[in-house]
Amino acid sequence: MATHRLYYEDSYLQNFEARVLSCSPAEPARGASGMQTAWEVLLDQTAFYPTSGGQPNDLGLLGEAAVLDVRDEEDGIVHIVDRELDPGGVKGCVNWPRRFDHMQQHTGQHLLSAMFQERFGLPTVSFHLGAEICTIDLQGGEPSRDQLIGAQRAANQVIFEDRPVTVRYGTREQLARLGVRKEVEREGLLRAIEIETADLQPCGGTHVKSTGQIGMILVRGCNKVRQDWRVEFVCGRRAEKVATEDFERERALMGLLGCGVEELQAAAERLAAERDANFKSLRSALQQLATVWAAQLVSTAPSRANGARSVSLLLRGAHPELLLPLATEIAKNERTIALLVLEESGQLVFAQHPAAGKDLGAVLKSVLAAHPGKGGGNKDFVRAKLAEPGHAAATLELAKSLIAD
Ligand SMILES: [Zn+2]
Repeated sequence: MATHRLYYEDSYLQNFEARVLSCSPAEPARGASGMQTAWEVLLDQTAFYPTSGGQPNDLGLLGEAAVLDVRDEEDGIVHIVDRELDPGGVKGCVNWPRRFDHMQQHTGQHLLSAMFQERFGLPTVSFHLGAEICTIDLQGGEPSRDQLIGAQRAANQVIFEDRPVTVRYGTREQLARLGVRKEVEREGLLRAIEIETADLQPCGGTHVKSTGQIGMILVRGCNKVRQDWRVEFVCGRRAEKVATEDFERERALMGLLGCGVEELQAAAERLAAERDANFKSLRSALQQLATVWAAQLVSTAPSRANGARSVSLLLRGAHPELLLPLATEIAKNERTIALLVLEESGQLVFAQHPAAGKDLGAVLKSVLAAHPGKGGGNKDFVRAKLAEPGHAAATLELAKSLIAD
């Protein structure tokens, strides 16, 4: 027997009475304290909305039992609850803040989708009501900034006009004649939601009774997902929440940057420019340091009988950007090899003058076989990062032994 859906007639119904038709053990379900034993309950009628059409299920109470999930199944609407219910009468109570939030988001979605379609010819192909953010997927070209803001503004205008939102029933043909936004294939009597002068759309969900209760719609982002454009938005209480979070974030940034809200962007741009300039001058200072230090290191490195020299260093507290120029400067000297490893991070650079005649690629391979890490290079130059910086000293010793004649 199909469950009588009370929310179809009155989406504001929070408390209702029903008869328990059956209660049987179910698979464990997720509750407030993790996975727990559960029962599934069929009622003769219910105000609990089951997950469907992009809108999540309601929560609440059936008698003493907490409702953990509500599903629309062949036998009717299945309530997953955390304790067994006796047959007979039961009182149901829908968690209203959660449901009203869903009604705000869902009605807002109808309105926003209608504005994208009507103003910019961008049809909505799917809708998702998430715990934090809601999304619609639009078909067609990428929505411009003006289109995103334009649809938001038009939808908010309809909210300010507080137009009635009503349920209409009709056959597919009747709804088509009334100018339904999205045609459906289903036969029989269909349920549609009308926003006066703005939208008519087949839907089995729950909605607010006038657009004013949506409160406000804020578009929050737009990204490409497969062939479509996913527009993120929030309505009602959620819009208030994200606007408050934006405000708090802005205040924190104003404190950090020591400026007013109007100067935030300019202050951040200035900071980024300063960072880039500082990095440039750091690089040039490190290059100068590398040149001087390399000359000193090479001059004191013992020369072998064949004239080859090697400089091996375990660097402590050095800037990671120093490794590359220092190794390069050392390897500019005739038949000289540089083996540099940074102790703190396990970064390493090996470089050689081509006439030194070793194969540093092979050396790195052996080193990484003993001390895992990621890196690569060629015969004369390699760089890598050890998975375990604690192996830095052992790595250097191994590399030294591998290049010893
Ligand atoms: Zn709907």
